Amino acid sequence: MNEKNSIGKLKGIGEKTEALFHRIGVNTIGDLIRYYPRGYDIFEDPVPISQLEEGKTAAVTGAVFGRIQVSGNQRLQITTLYLKDITGTLKVIWFRMPFLRNTLGKGGPLTLRGRVVRKREGLVMEHPEIYYPSVKYEEKKHSMQPVYSLTAGLTNNAVIKAVKQALEYVSEKQNILPSGLEVKYHFPPYAQAVQMMHFPENKESFIQARQRFAFEEFLIFVLALRRMKHAEARAKNQFYLPDSPLLTGFLERLPYQLTGAQKRVWEEIRADMQGPAVMSRLVQGDVGSGKTVIALLALLLAGLNGCQGALMAPTEVLARQHFETISGMLEEYSIPLKAELLTGSMTARQKREAYERIENGSASIIIGTHALIQEKVNYKNLSLVVTDEQHRFGVRQREALAGKGRTPHILVMSATPIPRTLAIILYGDLDISVIDELPKNRLPIKNCVVDTSYRETAYRFMKKQVLEGRQCYVICPMVEESESLEAENVMDYSSMLSEEMGGQIHVGCLHGRMKQQEKDAVMDAFGRNDVQILVSTTVVEVGIDVPNATVILIENAERFGLAQLHQLRGRVGRGRHQSYCIFMSPSKSKETKERLEILNHSNDGFFIAGEDLRLRGPGDLFGIRQSGILDFQIADVFQDARLLQEAGTAADKILAEDPDLALPEHAGLKRCIENKLQQIMLETTL
Ligand code: ADP
Ligand code: MG
Repeated sequence: MNEKNSIGKLKGIGEKTEALFHRIGVNTIGDLIRYYPRGYDIFEDPVPISQLEEGKTAAVTGAVFGRIQVSGNQRLQITTLYLKDITGTLKVIWFRMPFLRNTLGKGGPLTLRGRVVRKREGLVMEHPEIYYPSVKYEEKKHSMQPVYSLTAGLTNNAVIKAVKQALEYVSEKQNILPSGLEVKYHFPPYAQAVQMMHFPENKESFIQARQRFAFEEFLIFVLALRRMKHAEARAKNQFYLPDSPLLTGFLERLPYQLTGAQKRVWEEIRADMQGPAVMSRLVQGDVGSGKTVIALLALLLAGLNGCQGALMAPTEVLARQHFETISGMLEEYSIPLKAELLTGSMTARQKREAYERIENGSASIIIGTHALIQEKVNYKNLSLVVTDEQHRFGVRQREALAGKGRTPHILVMSATPIPRTLAIILYGDLDISVIDELPKNRLPIKNCVVDTSYRETAYRFMKKQVLEGRQCYVICPMVEESESLEAENVMDYSSMLSEEMGGQIHVGCLHGRMKQQEKDAVMDAFGRNDVQILVSTTVVEVGIDVPNATVILIENAERFGLAQLHQLRGRVGRGRHQSYCIFMSPSKSKETKERLEILNHSNDGFFIAGEDLRLRGPGDLFGIRQSGILDFQIADVFQDARLLQEAGTAADKILAEDPDLALPEHAGLKRCIENKLQQIMLETTL
């Protein structure tokens, strides 16, 4: 048996279980070997009761204090016990386990391990694992149990069992890392490293193994990028787009002056579009730095030269918003160009009509979502493709769109704060422009971090702002991995808030479960100020621009990553009014406080990303997932920034010595790169 065999060959995996594994993308034994845990359950030393922290899982050792009680009703019986050590007493509850009253009451030390939450009466440990007598915990102490991503019906234990068997078929032959690199970086040998990823003996061995695979992942990624770049050496500029007086006029009549940074970036773009080679440029700029107007200038330059330009947005809401803004501006400044909207939710008839105008060239600025790259769309003369908030797009989508014209100019807009050195490695095929200045009329957002006792005050403040004519966002608590629960949450919250605010203030709600038309209707209403308070999930995170909104209240702020909070906050502070961001969190944990304080004191995306990295530190097992940034299976572009740089160097060296990867010791790498290229084409988001 070897790693190519189906997992059905493993003991204990019948047809049903096999189907479940297929659902998580595991088909062969090799897939299973590379199905690394998403985290580990670590059995740490028990802590004194007085040092327990809310929201964390911990072990405590003590003796039962008083009587064990069973309460609740038949459907949900609750067992309550008080555990005492020399530092204090802890309330502990279990659901549906009334028999514990008899089994735990016999005296002697007891170790419990579970999550601690804050209830009205103080900290409570909920439904912990039981180690009785305490020595049972000693045996487990410091071990790390892998925790795998699962699907309904598949248990963590089933995966552990299968992985244990699969590991017998790991062989050095599957190693792809040239031995020189293994030695240079002191990586553990392949087979051992695989073992250490699944069942590490301790944190150090996990970190060592992780480094190896993160490096491998980066190396393959960088090599694949270099290949792509190689394959498409910058083509000749087939669309020379000279200046137009109408464009100059437009710039002069804008209600504001471009910032210095906007001017510089626009010059860079203009030079590209009028230069010898086709443009391939990334524009990085923090939220609110004014990227849209830059995109519009490029689109106008294309349109005014009789060519088409397309703007692709990651969500329908955003595409529609861009469409409205841009058609509004075309009209206002009497620019004789027609904008066209193309999204998936349009009716067949609407689409057909749009296709027609795109094909005959009467539409010159085409704005939409993925629908822009459907096969049915034929452009007359597509000369420019702009993708907004590009990290939500796959390279393949970018290329599919680019493939619709004679090599069009490519402009990619991103608010993801990646340090320049990293960006150069990651986007090796793009030139980079940075808008590193916010418009001058902006008042810095005022931030505050508060606990839930402040909620009433926050509502009063919002009400006051609304009565002054402003608008507010409320971002609802995130419910892990359940869109339908999230929807419920948002709806409950908004009806509660609506009551709280009284009749004249309209509260709308927005969540991922809504139909596109419903979303559009709510966004439109919010845009027109018919809705004053928008309660939403993170649907609003990307790009929405309603400058009249001045307050954003983020509930359960501790559940979001810093980068995401920064994006969310970017929904306000976009106009001339003073704006406010309220980070609300019930959490009393020190780390949460420290994290939120970073946002409290800085509005600078680059700084925040750096601090996020510092706080998490290299080797943080459960790093906060950055939203929208390159998703690697193991590696993390922030946390492993140094490793990425090393991989970049190693890749260059390999290519210098063996440009076609023809040496036998590069055979494995080559195979992986080809797979990676395919995968990048298919799904990886850049
Ligand atoms: P982002 O970079 O996040 O995409 P937008 O392009 O949506 O930001 O711009 C945010 C807001 O700032 C918009 O309402 C836009 O009209 C305005 N804006 C853009 N450039 C300037 C400027 N130079 N001066 C004043 N306001 C500007
Ligand atoms: Mg934007």
